[in-house]
Amino acid sequence: MKRVLLATSNPGKIRDFIGAARTRQIQIVTLPHFDTLPPVIENGTTFTANARKKARAYSRFAPHELVIADDSGLEVDALGGAPGVHSARYAQARPSASMTNTDDQANNAKLIDQIRQIAEERRTARFRCVIAAARDGVILGIFEGAADGMILDTPRGREGFGYDPLFYFPVLKKTFAELRADEKAQYSHRGQAFRKFLTWYEQV
Ligand code: IMP
Repeated sequence: MKRVLLATSNPGKIRDFIGAARTRQIQIVTLPHFDTLPPVIENGTTFTANARKKARAYSRFAPHELVIADDSGLEVDALGGAPGVHSARYAQARPSASMTNTDDQANNAKLIDQIRQIAEERRTARFRCVIAAARDGVILGIFEGAADGMILDTPRGREGFGYDPLFYFPVLKKTFAELRADEKAQYSHRGQAFRKFLTWYEQV
């Protein structure tokens, strides 16, 4: 069976990846000792730039293996696309000047604070995910996904991670935090990008 190494230790992302791969014949493994590897500075201005940087760097720690890294985030239209590439550190005073992530609760509190000033019908947003696949430091493919929704000012649901409890998905009339892993994967930005990756990987 083919296998792919995930360059992440984020349990929410791992849950999403496994949810999306349930019916595929590809083994999903996390990159060994991920938390002890030197962190990659995510200072790119696009999801693609950061995903490429992470995949290239981390694949060097697993010779000859296929390694994938994702960069993802939430773009809120009325906030000019924020938090965007700074989604993981949105609660910092100056997210663009900081490299330290802030926890989900703090990020969500800031988003609620910002969104309350915006009329409900203008709270449109999308999650984006870019997955980069690399082997031995060489990028072999880039795969993208996006999911459109609305931002709530009150959290709903206990599943998922990050901004999921504030992201209302009109197609299912639920937030992403109210979905099981396999349900979220069917519609989510990460699920879409990962399925594109799996289809490509099954063929190469
Ligand atoms: P990074 O891709 O590790 O740089 O972090 C992305 C950040 O975007 C996460 O820490 C979350 O705050 C947010 N994010 C990305 N994908 C999701 C998702 O599927 N649900 C909720 N939040 C997400």
